[in-house]
Amino acid sequence: MFDRILIANRGEIALRIIRAAKELGCETVCVFSQADRDGPWLEYADHTVCIGPGPSANSYLRADRIISAAETMHAEAIHPGYGFLAENAEFAEVCRDCNIEFIGPSPEAMALLGDKISCKQMARAAGTPIFPGSDDAIEDPEEALTVAREIGFPVIVKAAAGGGGRGMRIARNDEELVDGLASARQEAIAAFGNGSVYVEKFLEQARHVEVQCLGDKHGHAVHLFNRDCTSQRRHQKLIEEGPAPGVDERVRDEVCDSAASLIRNAKYSGAATVEFLMDRKQNFYMLEVNTRVQVEHPVTEAITGVDIVKESIRVAAGEPLSVEQCDISVTGHAIECRINAEDPDRGFMPQPGLVDVFQPAGGFGVRVDTHVRPGYRIPPNYDSMIGKLIVHGSDRTEAIAKMKRAIDEFRIGPIKTTLPLHRRLIEAAQFVEHDFDIHWVERLLEEQLV
Ligand code: ADP
Repeated sequence: MFDRILIANRGEIALRIIRAAKELGCETVCVFSQADRDGPWLEYADHTVCIGPGPSANSYLRADRIISAAETMHAEAIHPGYGFLAENAEFAEVCRDCNIEFIGPSPEAMALLGDKISCKQMARAAGTPIFPGSDDAIEDPEEALTVAREIGFPVIVKAAAGGGGRGMRIARNDEELVDGLASARQEAIAAFGNGSVYVEKFLEQARHVEVQCLGDKHGHAVHLFNRDCTSQRRHQKLIEEGPAPGVDERVRDEVCDSAASLIRNAKYSGAATVEFLMDRKQNFYMLEVNTRVQVEHPVTEAITGVDIVKESIRVAAGEPLSVEQCDISVTGHAIECRINAEDPDRGFMPQPGLVDVFQPAGGFGVRVDTHVRPGYRIPPNYDSMIGKLIVHGSDRTEAIAKMKRAIDEFRIGPIKTTLPLHRRLIEAAQFVEHDFDIHWVERLLEEQLV
């Protein structure tokens, strides 16, 4: 095991990683920006290093400063958390060149799965269900039209290097496809410096279901079952739960096994999530693989009892996974609500500033992952998530009741948060009956039904 690791992140995930490291007997170094000087999570770290001004381009995205901090502080490994440099294969490579262990996959595995075209090709070989469409990058409009005629409109043009919803165009006829191909390519070149695009079937009504996986450096890979993240706004997840409701066990196990095979074939070490869309007939189609720990990982920790962050540190240190597939099972049901400092009644306007009142919910089956305490000032520089409320019940009905109770207990002020919206969403018939698709929250918000 490492003696000392550096955490290249902030907020709740920095604290989550500090806690895991301490339990493993590792000392922690946490880097921070000037805007985070008073970040409460820094008090939990053994050492802290300032790496620059507030804007993340000058601090949390500065690989050179993070590496210098690790070298100066003699940290043997870096945990990137999520966001910032977590899915940057170049950063993983720089770490390796500097003899610092990147807590995550090798740069090769990250690049292979991070490119949507090579990922799709690997998924096909592993038996992971994918969307019908082109197997390779498409340049010629005629070729795109041939693919579209084969699979039928609507189709979607997507960038191989895509992320954050950029480089995507939906096409419902020939003309839109020809235009979409050109504009998606342009956007991809501007955003990612890589203009490769491909075409696949566009699914109108779908749920988002994803599979949590873990791999080690000894060729083992397991899945930790699935999560549903259908409740989203503008592709941002709001509520996550596990296991995904309404998926037959046989289908679930098949898809989860195929996701683990994909990770194993990619020689993947660390935590990964294979994301899918699922249609009403429980057909699964892979969207992409996220090569990092995800915000919603506590849902899976609750239902499987596996500490995903500790496992990721262990496997980076060269240890084998502490669990085998046959040891992992699902107990009960878990739901997570992301607490964003935003005002849902005013277009989700960010709410930086003083948090005067902060009284988290508690009790049996309630977990709160947050870096906030009363008196904390939310800086305007970063994303608005200030915490996560996770509940675990014996079944979905109990988990929903627990979440309602926990939200009612939570007190945050004077800033506004998304919690009151969550309270209304989990009571909505669509959620209770899991009769929903990825646009259900947006539709309700538009119709002002919540
Ligand atoms: P990114 O890496 O930019 O987030 P994804 O591949 O995860 O791109 O897609 C982002 C979102 O776009 C998905 O969550 C889904 O809502 C939508 N999407 C992507 N591909 C399809 C598809 N084939 N059919 C329907 N919706 C899709």
